[in-house]
Amino acid sequence: MSRYLKDEALVLKSYPLGESDRLITFLSWNRGKIVAVAKGARKTKSKLASGVDLFTHGNYQFYQGRGLALVTGVEVKDRFIYLRQDPELYPYGFYLVELADRLVPESGLCPEVCSLVLEGWRLLPEVENLPLLIRAFELKLLQSTGYSPFFEGCLQCGASQATVFSVSRGGLICPECSNERGFKVDFLLQPGTIALARVLLRLPLGRVQVVRSRHKQEQELARVTGSFLRYHLQIGPMNSLKYIDSLTR
Ligand SMILES: [Zn+2]
Repeated sequence: MSRYLKDEALVLKSYPLGESDRLITFLSWNRGKIVAVAKGARKTKSKLASGVDLFTHGNYQFYQGRGLALVTGVEVKDRFIYLRQDPELYPYGFYLVELADRLVPESGLCPEVCSLVLEGWRLLPEVENLPLLIRAFELKLLQSTGYSPFFEGCLQCGASQATVFSVSRGGLICPECSNERGFKVDFLLQPGTIALARVLLRLPLGRVQVVRSRHKQEQELARVTGSFLRYHLQIGPMNSLKYIDSLTR
């Protein structure tokens, strides 16, 4: 069955294919990921050329035949050229893309994730504390894909004095429950780190600039989120994140 589709989408991956085509992975508002070929898009005169680079946001038309979908039209909304050209911003922009690509299922509605990635791309040149933006993005992305770690008190009894984070349980445990049930203590968190995680989960990503945090809390949160992603989603540290960590160390 063949059909034409229209969807708002972000370019998550874009590779040269053959002589003049591009193979693109889109994250679309209404259909999740779409892998499609943009025929002739590397020719300068192509009407698709402006809409096929990594970090492009636009309204796209696709033709879904028997094989891979084809990109048949594009109306570009934003090209985020600074993310491709600024060597400091590029790895951050790329990390947002890599993480979203790994966390989002292959199909289905994902307007929240699309909006989050788009907001992240917009914020990158404005935010001073880029590592904090990354931490906020990780938590908001986990939240919007239904995997949010729990920081609002003890998972077991609800006690507010919970400072032990159990990665396998997915959240905080109070000392009593931890002793009683013999839960593995993965992290003993500072109160400031817990407060930071709560604030980042509650605020929209666009408000990240009002959040004040200490470097130590950001690092602790990074370790918790990293372990959480590895344990629950089998997502190991990505090259872009390793590179960012080497810059901020
Ligand atoms: Zn408890």
